[in-house]
Amino acid sequence: MLDFRSDTVTRPGPGMLDAMLKAEVGDCGYGEDTATNTLEAFCAELLGMDDAVFLSSGTLSNQVALRLHTRPGDEVILDQSYHLNTYESGFCAQFAQVALNTIESSDGIVTVDRIDEAFEKKRRLWWCAPPTLLGLENTVNHHAGKALTPDQIARPAAYARSKGMRVHLDGARLFNACANKGVGVTAFTAEVDTVSLCFSKGLGAPYGSVLAGRAAVMGEARLHRKLFGAEVRQPGFMAAAALYGLQHNAGRLGRDHRLARYLAAGLTALGLRLTTARPDTNIIVVDTRELPVDAPALAGRFLRHGLLVSVLTERFLRFVTHLNVSRPDADTALSIVAEVLRALWKEPAEDRKGALTN
Ligand SMILES: *Cc1c(COP(=O)(O)O)cnc(C)c1O
Repeated sequence: MLDFRSDTVTRPGPGMLDAMLKAEVGDCGYGEDTATNTLEAFCAELLGMDDAVFLSSGTLSNQVALRLHTRPGDEVILDQSYHLNTYESGFCAQFAQVALNTIESSDGIVTVDRIDEAFEKKRRLWWCAPPTLLGLENTVNHHAGKALTPDQIARPAAYARSKGMRVHLDGARLFNACANKGVGVTAFTAEVDTVSLCFSKGLGAPYGSVLAGRAAVMGEARLHRKLFGAEVRQPGFMAAAALYGLQHNAGRLGRDHRLARYLAAGLTALGLRLTTARPDTNIIVVDTRELPVDAPALAGRFLRHGLLVSVLTERFLRFVTHLNVSRPDADTALSIVAEVLRALWKEPAEDRKGALTN
């Protein structure tokens, strides 16, 4: 199977497994899990923050951040395309009990003007939901892994803070943005209150994320980790894998990006329409609207040839490059796509199951 669904499918290689076996662990509840303590100190320093907490997932990092920054009934301003809205809006309602005020952009970029518009969209009387948090994201998952510049993060963040709001940066794939922009990670964190990273995506670790932030806001982070069930006893085996990912795999993400551009060019040459012809990072989104079958049906045909891609919606398919796919794999994927498309265009229309009617 060629698995281009996501960079979350990566499995630990020999070096990472070795680091996990050698992890020095202890009871994290007593603060004695050395590997976790090491990872947290390393991440705080790396991200230019005072404190960092090892958590089980990127979703949990976002949810803990909301708990730190808001009170029930508060409002969070963010772009509609961000993970916090597209996947987590129900969690935001359940766990932090906040209202989301979304910026309806088509490019995933939060600007000062757009913050003002979101602010002015609602009434601001004393009993109306107060906007206390700005949510940012980099890279932007839903915009084919678009990498925002340090300025595109710092400006809206500084503006929101000048208005008394806090700022959380969902940096699940922040190292992909670093690789694309050729900057260090602190270029994105200078103006934010908290930032989260995923270890289980391009960094290739099996588990976890980190939430890092300034001392003034991180006080209850470990309380929420306990509450949400992520304070486990010897997480050090996983922390060691995460540290290995940071030290060995963050520096190779440029390779995933080059492979994604190669694959994108190949898919375009085969006549597929991509939402972004030249992806910034490792995500390619195919728009199937002009094809005679919809996205699930096309993915099903690829699967029969041993190619896995993810179905985002009825219309969009996604290919993601990562640690466990190579240039020859991309070539094989392209030949499978070519064969499937050739067969598809030859078929009489009534044989194409799952065709859209629009
Ligand atoms: C993947 C992702 C998350 C969630 O991470 P999980 O570990 O899958 O919970 C959050 N935000 C963004 C932008 C992501 O891409």
